[in-house]
Amino acid sequence: MQSWFTFELNGAECRVDGVATNKTLAQFLADRGTWPEGPCFAPTDSWAGGDLVLLATIDAVGRPKYRAVDATLLFLPMMAGQDIWTWEAFCLMDPGHTVVRAMRAASLECGPRAEARLGLLLVEGYYRQDLRWMGQLREQLDGIVTRTANWRAIERVARQIFAKAERMRHEAEQIAQASGVGKLIQQGRLDVFDDIFSRHLVAYYPEDDEDLSYVDESKRRFYRPKTLVELLQLKNQYPDAEVIAGGTGMGQTAGKSEWETLISTEDVEELRVIRKEPNHWEIGAAVTLTSVGETVGRDVGPLGKLLSRFASRAVRNRATLGGNLAIAATYGQIAPLLIALDARVHLTSLEGERDAPMAMFFDRGGKSILRPGEVIRSISVPRFTESILEKRGSQSRLCDAYMVTLRRSLCEPLMTGAFAVELAADGTVKKAWIAYSGVSDRPLRARKAEKELVGRKWNEKAIMQVLPSVNQEIKIEDDRGNDDYRRQLVITLFQKFYFQHPKVADDVAVELGAASEFAHPEQPFFDALALGDKSVL
Ligand SMILES: Cc1cc2nc3c(=O)[nH]c(=O)nc-3n(C[C@H](O)[C@H](O)[C@H](O)COP(=O)(O)OP(=O)(O)OC[C@H]3O[C@@H](n4cnc5c(N)ncnc54)[C@H](O)[C@@H]3O)c2cc1C
Repeated sequence: MQSWFTFELNGAECRVDGVATNKTLAQFLADRGTWPEGPCFAPTDSWAGGDLVLLATIDAVGRPKYRAVDATLLFLPMMAGQDIWTWEAFCLMDPGHTVVRAMRAASLECGPRAEARLGLLLVEGYYRQDLRWMGQLREQLDGIVTRTANWRAIERVARQIFAKAERMRHEAEQIAQASGVGKLIQQGRLDVFDDIFSRHLVAYYPEDDEDLSYVDESKRRFYRPKTLVELLQLKNQYPDAEVIAGGTGMGQTAGKSEWETLISTEDVEELRVIRKEPNHWEIGAAVTLTSVGETVGRDVGPLGKLLSRFASRAVRNRATLGGNLAIAATYGQIAPLLIALDARVHLTSLEGERDAPMAMFFDRGGKSILRPGEVIRSISVPRFTESILEKRGSQSRLCDAYMVTLRRSLCEPLMTGAFAVELAADGTVKKAWIAYSGVSDRPLRARKAEKELVGRKWNEKAIMQVLPSVNQEIKIEDDRGNDDYRRQLVITLFQKFYFQHPKVADDVAVELGAASEFAHPEQPFFDALALGDKSVL
């Protein structure tokens, strides 16, 4: 085993010798001393936004990307071989970086920490190739800006910055079309920005290092194997070892935790796959929620919508789907939707493989059916194309999830309801799914009500007829408070699902709720800023 490793910090090699495996990157940076005016990386609450750094990485479809991540949740050995930038690097760049110049010109009046948080999220957005719509702009910054009163000013700056990036990409694409290198732009391999960070990013290929086996001064171990077999063998060798994925769940107790052995899933090829099959999506357990949203979420609308409000961009950039399910948080908002999507979870150990429908994965007491030595390998999410539905004797499938929280994001959900119905051509319900989290010690499914819906016409009368069963089956059984309110929500979320979706006779969905009136998620944010307008920044 090795007692040291290196990573790149702001373009220079940084060596780590014997440092504790449970130390976070934020603690490490704080110990190194801070830049006088910069963020201090002192202990902070990740639920308040954390302290961010930018991580160069390769996305689910193989393109190099910068991802803003919370350094307070990153265990230091996770950084071995990684390429990290802090806000300081952008502020010191000469000539000034577009994002820094735009923020300074707008006098956003935020403290150094908030400025760094916002700045790095804007930098990530600036280099994002897919950022075009208002909904994406909000998704990029939500969780951080929903905590400030400065949203209007921030949104204006963000639109300027992202519009500039869009204009540069647009111009580069026009040139590329003529010279036949358009593919390089799509692959993120052509530098359209010409600054030190963009040059660095297009050249970024993570080194194909050996597996990491690191031991700290207290003999605590951190392994980062490359294959599933190695991971399972390590788990077998160290029965008390804890598997670690994105670390956003475990990182909250970093420093205080005393794990003797940590085994990271981050480099395990088999757990990082994301595959679109004719009948389903196969999502490796170690795929981040951002990657799930940007691939599966584009195809499976309700999943994309739900993930865009999960925690914050910086958390989603690390948090994995497998980690989320393994935690089995009673308020977890993804599980009910996966139930409504009829997803299955695949588990693996040295003894073999097994799988289970999503609803059967969770056990009493906030636990799951995972056995010692077993890990989540993947989650399969069915695709409901017209031909697949036809084979099932259905014509259409409605599915949605509703999350109730105190704030739009970066906030523990109070309750989530997810629903789906498959309808025959005459509007008869062929199959139904009604699931909730945040009500009990595990996600609950209203199976009796689902059965009662089958064979009925999908109309208001049917909804009213099954509500008593929903009420009876979905009991508030935890001690999180607001019981009366949550009892009401069980009913109203289901009704909302009915009223917000097209009826057999309708051509279009009925949109309810204030959000839809001003959200305009599909509106391009650069509309107001003509692409050719060079005066913008
Ligand atoms: C600020 C903040 C906001 C958050 N908001 C939410 C929220 O809104 N909703 C929510 O549900 N959660 C939330 N979380 C909790 C957490 O971020 C998520 O649940 C996340 O998806 C966990 O994934 P991870 O990859 O980071 O898991 P990790 O922290 O790496 O691991 C969590 C647990 O899962 C186990 N594990 C990981 N991968 C596997 C695997 N493949 N097989 C078996 N076991 C595995 C680990 O051993 C560990 O016990 C939040 C956390 C923070 C810090």
